Amino acid sequence: MGLFSAANSEPRLLSLAERLRSDRRAEVQSEPVISLARIEFLTPDRTGLPPLARYAHLQMPDGSAKVVGFAEGSRGCKHWCRHCPVVPVYQGKFRVVQVPVVLADIRSQVAMGAEHISFGDPDFLNGPTHALKLARALHAEFPDLSFDATIKVQHLIEHAMLLPELKRCGCLYVTSAVEAVDDRILEYLDKNHSAEDFGRAVALLRQAGIAFAPTFVAFTPWTTLDGYVDLLRRLIELELVESVPPIQLCIRLLVPEGSYLLKLAGFRDLIRGFRCEDSGLPLATPRRPRRCAAAASSGVCRESRGRGAFAPPGIRANLGDGSPIPRQDRSAARPPEPRLVHAAPFGALVLLCRTHDAAVA
Ligand code: SF4
Repeated sequence: MGLFSAANSEPRLLSLAERLRSDRRAEVQSEPVISLARIEFLTPDRTGLPPLARYAHLQMPDGSAKVVGFAEGSRGCKHWCRHCPVVPVYQGKFRVVQVPVVLADIRSQVAMGAEHISFGDPDFLNGPTHALKLARALHAEFPDLSFDATIKVQHLIEHAMLLPELKRCGCLYVTSAVEAVDDRILEYLDKNHSAEDFGRAVALLRQAGIAFAPTFVAFTPWTTLDGYVDLLRRLIELELVESVPPIQLCIRLLVPEGSYLLKLAGFRDLIRGFRCEDSGLPLATPRRPRRCAAAASSGVCRESRGRGAFAPPGIRANLGDGSPIPRQDRSAARPPEPRLVHAAPFGALVLLCRTHDAAVA
């Protein structure tokens, strides 16, 4: 039996299910693993799933919580970021889900108690016209419903004029895969944005009144200890410490089979033998960043189990003079931001101080 690799595989999945139902011995999968065929999307049937309140909820700055639903306005992505698992499947293609279908799905979740919709599109602005139609339709029917979406840094800059309208339609925050603050690493990942663009995106979102939830690949084969410190320093400069869950600061580059990183000259030399428990191809990482990554992971795990804040000695970072870093000062003009809270919360980010040399070497 083979596996379907997402994409638009529902008709193939249905065909397989029907074939198995009529003949249980027909176990050889003849349907293609990946299908990018255009299909008529159906409204998802969510009956039988646990109530929405059992999933992640949105913690609002005033202490209240919103029940969160999920919808997708599109699948796939027109970009080719080398490390992205979407690329080997969709190969630069994306498919929009018809607005009435998405709205029907949202309507049924509102009836189940959803107060906020998290759009799961790999990139909400791959089709800006479609995204705008969707946001406007959502807001027209449910003026009190808020939403969040994932939008790449490049799109935040190129489509900056759309941000105020997304805000008007209820967009509370945007998640964006910033990945790194080192232009050399961004180039390897083919992200189509620079370290400076990260700052631009932050400014544009703040101007529009939309909160920002950046995500990172904190450890790559090219990450140095100083580079890691630069990332922490940048988060402080941009007043983003509280916007970044600690888990983001210990994520390592994952290289699934078929990754376009493998097309990068010399990259295969960084691969060590496949180990199942790594869920991907393990990478060679310089010793000190590797120990730093391990310390960061264990700190986040401890915090997730409620055993203290994320400040393990192994990742106390040197920001230059070795002096303790004061708590993040938030500009008085900027209000607190909403955040998505999962069933096992990772808690607040507290880390930076002292020298890394003594702690990590
Ligand atoms: S990282 Fe985002 S923008 Fe890049 S290919 Fe993946 S989904 Fe698309």
